[in-house]
Amino acid sequence: MKDLARRNSLKAGMATMVVAAVAGTARQATAHETPNTPFTVPQTTIPIQGSQAVFPVRRIYCIGRNYAAHAREMGSDPTREPPFFFQKPTDAIQFVSPGTVGDHPYPSLTKNYHYEVELVAALKSGGKNIPIDRALDHVFGYALGLDMTRRDLQRAMGDEKKPWEIGKSFDRSAPIGPIIPASVIGKFSNENISLAVNGVVKQKATLDQIIWSVAEQISKLSEANELFAGDIIYSGTPENVGPVVRGDVILCKLDRLPDLSIRIT
Ligand code: MN
Repeated sequence: MKDLARRNSLKAGMATMVVAAVAGTARQATAHETPNTPFTVPQTTIPIQGSQAVFPVRRIYCIGRNYAAHAREMGSDPTREPPFFFQKPTDAIQFVSPGTVGDHPYPSLTKNYHYEVELVAALKSGGKNIPIDRALDHVFGYALGLDMTRRDLQRAMGDEKKPWEIGKSFDRSAPIGPIIPASVIGKFSNENISLAVNGVVKQKATLDQIIWSVAEQISKLSEANELFAGDIIYSGTPENVGPVVRGDVILCKLDRLPDLSIRIT
């Protein structure tokens, strides 16, 4: 925590010095100064259920092929190979209030737009090489999310051995509901997770079918990247992903979390 605060204030100080240098008025910046930026960039946040506070998002990590049946439908062998991760840009978040249906624009460039319902873990702290038995101590709370995917582009890029980016990391590709603090909801074990399109259930599983648990995901991810407060992790989707078209309504459910619903527009 202290390290992060120091880093951020160093960063802020450096940004101030850079701007000052550009303006030709170099001077020593003090650590607590707000950097003078030529414009502002909004901080992505997610509402916290039962609180006026919002959760500031630092990074969005996603785990791939974390249910055996989904790994098979994607054409891979679901043995316990190490989990793999990708990221979405922070501003891909589209918050949808419980009890509402969020308008979700059909994205450009795709003709095969897929849903993936997922449990999301949101971190209040981080570290490197976090042991599995301490990993859940870093969880601030949980949310229900959608990892929306331009499947045709993801597959085409995969076939060409190019990065998946365009298939996974695009505007509004991460619809999500409010974060429920772990202090309120505890942890998850064998809850039902499901997704319906226009009232027809498409995806249905229980969380105990997950290959790498949330604790294992945090631990593994922290070997690759130092994790920090504000990081969120989409934990993978069950089998039977599929396409939606304009006008379709997606309804996601996970026991003990509020429903998440969007309409493709
Ligand atoms: Mn996914």
